[in-house]
Amino acid sequence: MTYQNPAFIPGPTNMPEALRRAVDMPTMDHRSAAFAEILQPALAGVKRVLQTETGEVFVFPSTGTGGWETAISNTLSPGDTVLAARNGMFSHKWIDMCKRHGLNVVQVDVDWGEGIPADRFEEILAADGAHEIKAVLATHNETATGVVSDIAAIRAAMDAAGHPALLFVDGVSSIGSMDFRMDAWGVDIAVTGSQKGFMLPAGLAITGFSQKALERIEAATLPRTYFDIRDMRAAYPASGFPYTPPVGLINGLKQASEMLLAEGLDNVFARHARIAEGVRRAVAAWNMALCARRPALYSNSVSAILTPAGFDAGVLVAHAATRYNVAFGAGLGDVAGKLFRIGHLGLLSEAQALLGLAVAEMAMADMGLEVTLGAGVAAAQEFYRSDEP
Ligand SMILES: *Cc1c(COP(=O)(O)O)cnc(C)c1O
Repeated sequence: MTYQNPAFIPGPTNMPEALRRAVDMPTMDHRSAAFAEILQPALAGVKRVLQTETGEVFVFPSTGTGGWETAISNTLSPGDTVLAARNGMFSHKWIDMCKRHGLNVVQVDVDWGEGIPADRFEEILAADGAHEIKAVLATHNETATGVVSDIAAIRAAMDAAGHPALLFVDGVSSIGSMDFRMDAWGVDIAVTGSQKGFMLPAGLAITGFSQKALERIEAATLPRTYFDIRDMRAAYPASGFPYTPPVGLINGLKQASEMLLAEGLDNVFARHARIAEGVRRAVAAWNMALCARRPALYSNSVSAILTPAGFDAGVLVAHAATRYNVAFGAGLGDVAGKLFRIGHLGLLSEAQALLGLAVAEMAMADMGLEVTLGAGVAAAQEFYRSDEP
């Protein structure tokens, strides 16, 4: 095994050298003034990446999953009802977490490959006259299927139903790579992790809370200690932390935000869109289909590619790893074995994307799939040449 990068998994993503160095820090007293110069810019930078003016950012030594728990445990009480769609492994796991916390879940099952049905949500919310539903959970980008859902449409559905529930959005594989507007979309809690759009090692849960969400924290009675944002909120003004912070990761977060903002969020999103479109052109040239059913659902951070019936896509992923030292994403849950995923978020250029497509073609040919070497690469090349940044 060699550590040959770039990797084409949808997180953890490839790390820029500058960020690898940023997280590699000597011991620092986190009660010193020096930590303030790391923490405050990191929090401010994340706020801008989340596109929120009024929200507050809380960062935990954890991962995206801890961010889910932060969202629900700080705002809800046992027996509360939440509304969520299950359209892939990540939405499934967040629902499972809610159930394990003693919440009732109004679960809308949709085919994997579909997005969150905002119209169905509107019907359910409109029928909930007693406002039993306290929160709507939405996975912005379902990483297991490469499906992006329309969060603005979900907010519009909630507003149309006149429903006061909070809107929690899992943006783990969208924030920092696809447009995400916390304020404009009325997102009450945004959740992500350090190892996707922020291009850092895993180790941070990154959350943004709206003022409306913050108003619910005192009344919420789900047990919480480590993830209690009241402790974070009390400590931050003096640049304190309720426990020992992972200083290097927070320094990485500061620099990652600076890097994204220096490129310009619109440029970051356009780069991801361009790279993703090249990958999709390659998939079309391979005569293969995406798991995502329609162009409006196509994710710009990961493409999930269906392989022919009877073919085990897991074997393809394993072969690419052992023979070519290149990591692709395997199918998860209901789509295990049926698809493989090309992650194209974070640090990635067109040139690097071509490498992944070339290796995918070799691996598919080795495994006996009908693919003409170079066909997908050429389709992507043509697109990348024509679509100048
Ligand atoms: C990766 C991912 C998660 C899980 O995050 P961890 O950091 O692995 O805990 C949750 N949701 C989505 C959409 C993801 O892509």
